[in-house]
Amino acid sequence: MLKETPFDRLMSWFFVHRRDLPWRRDRSFYSVLVSEMMLQQTQVVRVLGYYARFMNRFPTLEALAQASLEDVYIVWSGLGYYRRARYLWEAARLLVKEGVPPKGGWESVPGLGQYTISALRAFALNECVGVLDANVKRVLARFRGISSLKEKRLWEVITTFVVYGVRRGYEPRDVNEAFMELGALVCGRERRCYLCPFQRVCCTYLRGEDIFYVREKKSYTKVQERCIAYLKDDGKVWVVQGERWRKGLWDLPLWKEKLEEGERLGGFVLEYGVTHHRVERQVEVYRVKQMAGWEGGRWVMVTSPEVALGSPARRCLEFLQDFVTIPQNLS
Ligand code: SF4
Repeated sequence: MLKETPFDRLMSWFFVHRRDLPWRRDRSFYSVLVSEMMLQQTQVVRVLGYYARFMNRFPTLEALAQASLEDVYIVWSGLGYYRRARYLWEAARLLVKEGVPPKGGWESVPGLGQYTISALRAFALNECVGVLDANVKRVLARFRGISSLKEKRLWEVITTFVVYGVRRGYEPRDVNEAFMELGALVCGRERRCYLCPFQRVCCTYLRGEDIFYVREKKSYTKVQERCIAYLKDDGKVWVVQGERWRKGLWDLPLWKEKLEEGERLGGFVLEYGVTHHRVERQVEVYRVKQMAGWEGGRWVMVTSPEVALGSPARRCLEFLQDFVTIPQNLS
């Protein structure tokens, strides 16, 4: 019988403490694909409800491939980073046509980077590959005392652990998830070394200081945009399909698309983040009459738009509710 190692202690800890997540119960390729796309830059607790709704509405890869992009956006609405929804839809269409794995190789699938490809191969197909996310990077850097956070080095380390784990009788998906789960539950920004199965052999713990963990610095580019909200007295606002950040989602038109003078009611400013941009959006609010001949957009109720909106557009509509209730004779 093999002697118990710290690695075995990690696996024992994982089998007891791992979270019961829906995409761990359903290891199908489709379930893993949907969850991995949703989990990019989004926390698990936030994804849970969206995942359930999405799987309910599009239960198979084929169902998703046959859906319209507009329908996909509606179910995704509120989760943010809408490019993921479009990539997921495009990936489903390609994979239905080409099969899994795709004929053109994983790199030919829209929206799949090195991380997502390795996650699909490890979690869905149980292949012997390492998966490196932010949690695993942090655990490896601390545990092995890797002062450089060079991605290539860390990919090698996690892959070595997976190969080692398989030799000891564990499944590749479990080894990868054990490291991820340790990073998520124990070795987070706040270290809980007293709970950790690696405590006795961890470089950071034994040295007593977290000298290896380099916090990822986020640098944002500031961007300004100006939009216009055309309101009618019946509580409707004019929206168009966005091009810039959220292709296909409905949003207020940019100022340059201004179509009608109307009567200015006021304005407001909000900020939001998209990829590595910090956008300051200034919105001018105008009251207009019913007009014929407008193209490329539609009127929606401010209180219940019933179209797929991006997060900034939703927030704008919340602001606009105050303008809708302004009595005509006071404005
Ligand atoms: S002992 Fe502490 S620093 Fe080391 S891996 Fe565990 S939680 Fe992280």
